[in-house]
Amino acid sequence: MTTVDRPAAPSTERSERLFAEAQEVIPGGVNSPVRACRAVGTTPLFIERGEGAYVFDADGNRYIDYVLSWGPLVAGHAHPKVVAALSGALRRGSSFGAPTALETELAHAVRAAVPSMELVRFVNSGTEATMSALRLARAYTGREVIVKLEGGYHGHSDGLLAKAGSGPLTLGAPDSPGVPAAVAATTVTVPFNDLAALETVLRSYAVATFILEPVPANMGVVPPAPGYLAGVRELTQRYGALLILDEVMTGFRTAYGGAQALYDVRPDLTCLGKIIGGGLPVGAYGGRREIMAMISPSGAVYQAGTLSGNPLAMTAGLATLALLREPGAYERLESLSARLEQGLREAAQTAGVPATVTRVGSLLTLFFTPGPVTDYATARGADTVRFAAFYRAMRAGGVYLPPSQFEALFVSLAHTEGDIERTLDVARAALA
Ligand code: PMP
Repeated sequence: MTTVDRPAAPSTERSERLFAEAQEVIPGGVNSPVRACRAVGTTPLFIERGEGAYVFDADGNRYIDYVLSWGPLVAGHAHPKVVAALSGALRRGSSFGAPTALETELAHAVRAAVPSMELVRFVNSGTEATMSALRLARAYTGREVIVKLEGGYHGHSDGLLAKAGSGPLTLGAPDSPGVPAAVAATTVTVPFNDLAALETVLRSYAVATFILEPVPANMGVVPPAPGYLAGVRELTQRYGALLILDEVMTGFRTAYGGAQALYDVRPDLTCLGKIIGGGLPVGAYGGRREIMAMISPSGAVYQAGTLSGNPLAMTAGLATLALLREPGAYERLESLSARLEQGLREAAQTAGVPATVTRVGSLLTLFFTPGPVTDYATARGADTVRFAAFYRAMRAGGVYLPPSQFEALFVSLAHTEGDIERTLDVARAALA
């Protein structure tokens, strides 16, 4: 076993002070809950800047970053080409609320990568993309019930914050105060990798759409079983429900064409976010022309946005996609991520810690469970107390992980082999 000289954990005094100040004016001190680090029993680092694969906190500590703004920064922080493109765009004006050629250019780039997206509408977040796609699916099918996965996350709109009661045939109950029971009752959940449960629901309700992440990454990363996605496509078609693939996480990450390219499945609608905005706020939804043509103003389904398609976000997205089209980009993401996967697995084995490492491309989770992890129920079997201790030890050692057992680690083009080896050294010490 390698031992690393582990200096005392770096001081995070300024982050703690900034967090206390933030709590005076922001609920819980954060603008998105997971960031508060409650699940890992600590308080957040306040980040001052990012550079490549690293973030620097308010106390000046440097961390190898596997959060990458929760995925968008596949080229790393402040990539010089993205910064240069953005500086130019900013000088020309940050938003017009009128069409620009940049929107058409990014839509073309998206469609070239994801051919099922025959028409593309840009919005400002993944939440907006999924919420709008659901409205469209209901309008197109004339049906109201939507099906989602247990443990599937698609943003925080009312209908998607619903949990099934005691099984797939129970209509949803609100998952948050403030969600109307009537809205939650139009959502049904099914377990991942279970075609029989899906068919039961499709047979029992007039289902507008099944929305899922092709590789769920919000219960930790859980790869689809062979044939599952093909089965989902066949069943939804047979029962007249639309298939929405939420590729907010997997889009341009598991492959340039997303998970639908990797697993060869063609959805009716696709949702994107994160990478297509290169770190600026963007989402998109798109799909079959006849369905998308129902969106206002070409059709009657209303959806709009003051800042939608704004030139800064379009520019950052275009620059980031250009970096992903450079030869060898995905090979590099794959080899770095495979090394991290293998190293973490070996480190856990050596330490005698029961663990399962799941990975698809540069999305990866170290689950503290002997596994296998195939759905939400098995993911939830992971030891979150052990994860919390691991998270804190990694952070003290200079490695910044997503602060929850049920999130994915993201690898970027900016990470080096040296960063991965350093991460594994810290992990070996943390697991021991
Ligand atoms: N869909 C998926 C698969 C996501 O992972 C997320 C957020 N991580 C969303 C939708 C919501 O996106 P946003 O946070 O941009 O609203």
